Amino acid sequence: MLKGVAASDGIGIGNVLLIEETSLEYTPHAVEDTAAETRRFHEAVEVFVKNTEKQAENLTKTAGEKEAKIMLGHISMIKDPYMQGEIEKQIQGGSCAEAALENMCDMFIGVFSAAEDDFTRQRAADVRDVKAGMLAILLGVNVVDLTAAAPGTIIVARELTPSMTAGIDRDNIVGIITETGGKTSHSAILARALEIPAVLSVENVTKTFKDGEKVIVDGKAGLVIENPTAADITEYTAKREEFLAEKSELEMFRNKKTLNADGTEYELFCNIGKPEDAVKAVECDGEGVGLFRTEFLFMDRNSLPNENEQFEAYKKAVMVLKGKPLIIRTLDIGGDKEIPYLGLEKEENPFMGYRAIRYCLGNKDLFKTQIRAILRASVYGDIRIMFPLVTCVEEVRHGKTLVEECKAELKAQGKGFNNDIKIGIMTETAASAAIADLLAKECDFFSIGTNDLTGYTMSCDRGNSKVSYLYSHFQPAVLRMIEKIIKSAAENGIPVGMCGEAAADPMLVPLLISFGLTEFSVSPVSVLKVRKEIAKWTKRDADALRDYVMTLHTQSEIVEYIKSKL
Ligand code: PEP
Ligand code: MG
Repeated sequence: MLKGVAASDGIGIGNVLLIEETSLEYTPHAVEDTAAETRRFHEAVEVFVKNTEKQAENLTKTAGEKEAKIMLGHISMIKDPYMQGEIEKQIQGGSCAEAALENMCDMFIGVFSAAEDDFTRQRAADVRDVKAGMLAILLGVNVVDLTAAAPGTIIVARELTPSMTAGIDRDNIVGIITETGGKTSHSAILARALEIPAVLSVENVTKTFKDGEKVIVDGKAGLVIENPTAADITEYTAKREEFLAEKSELEMFRNKKTLNADGTEYELFCNIGKPEDAVKAVECDGEGVGLFRTEFLFMDRNSLPNENEQFEAYKKAVMVLKGKPLIIRTLDIGGDKEIPYLGLEKEENPFMGYRAIRYCLGNKDLFKTQIRAILRASVYGDIRIMFPLVTCVEEVRHGKTLVEECKAELKAQGKGFNNDIKIGIMTETAASAAIADLLAKECDFFSIGTNDLTGYTMSCDRGNSKVSYLYSHFQPAVLRMIEKIIKSAAENGIPVGMCGEAAADPMLVPLLISFGLTEFSVSPVSVLKVRKEIAKWTKRDADALRDYVMTLHTQSEIVEYIKSKL
């Protein structure tokens, strides 16, 4: 059994089609007729553009428009005036078209590969793809065509390039295994869009696998089973059927309201980190965004995003949501989230230190810039503001005063905003749970951040494996905190959501229904799963479960008991 990156869920059982890398070797040579060589380069570009457009058209049909854009990106790359200009310059200097192209592409590949973030590093694969496609045209070499692959094919390649993927027919290709690529590589994105199970970054597969041999791809566990036994095939065939049944069952919950078994409606939102993720939230049938973690707008750059940049980002997200709510959490920095250019002082105990709302209230300019941007974007949809890590009433009042100051400033500038914008808080500290009754009178909504609430309640750092046995939302202490927050919200007539990871835990769902949670905010991929879990429970059954669970004394008893009832 081989292990790799689980890049696209599902089980594929089939026969290997080994994709050998086409030899694109050539001998660099000096050219004299540089005008003719430049023409040859441009003719190749034209062919490349035509081929790529065709591949994009294909992908639009098989995977979707967003995926086709990856191919269109290759066209922009080769047509980039800087790229073309530099290649022309090299040809005019006597270089052959192949060498000029390769030099430029290798330069970009080097830059992208050295990037710190995974996403940019993966873009090197796109340049490699463009280079290979162009070289093949210039050298007159045939490239891999997957359109004719036999049914039940599992592709094994060093790297699955977007252009290869464009030829894939998902009726024939049942699995993908590669030696390179991560979860955010285009191959992974395309495999997921095509719904083909994929395991990437499996060492040496192109050397050890043979054409035609039987293989199983487990895209969930990231496993590849070579030469499976009859027992393996039986086991994985059953797993595949289970996966497909589960998938089609989940599909039945698409475009439906989120209702429990009594017909009580819940809001089912998504958590996002970038404006583009709002697209995913909508695609996954989210009913809005319950948590936009804005710190990502501040990361991976060297200076603060200004008001306009932030305004554009919030506007972009809310426009995608077309009237669905967008809860924007103000900057939640510190603790495990660092922004190097802010130069935050090293602290003895960063999780207890100068972070999140505390930092923002102490850095008014930065905070008000963000609030003004959010307010301006609120003209374009249902935007709500949420403060993180609140521990006392003063913080909420201070934050709201600054929102009022921002409104006055925008008014003076003649800029529009929603004057009735809702302001809520994350209840994710032990203090906020203890005074939830007081806080509920100060704000418009709560959202329970169980990721932090669990850590702060249990006084345990979730990154420390020695104390990880304490880090559980099924600890009686944490459940009591959650219940108290929800009850306080209900008593004061404000909605209460949960945006911590626990909101997607099927074992917690009945307790949340019984406590009276009104909104769940989960990662986009969990939307249908959570809708299905909610649909299983009547309030009465959920209450019965809650009543017994809350008499239990230990986390393990609670977990065992809930498991026995699912
Ligand atoms: C949480 O603490 O539960 C939460 C949603 O916020 P984050 O994970 O960003 O701290
Ligand atoms: Mg948090």
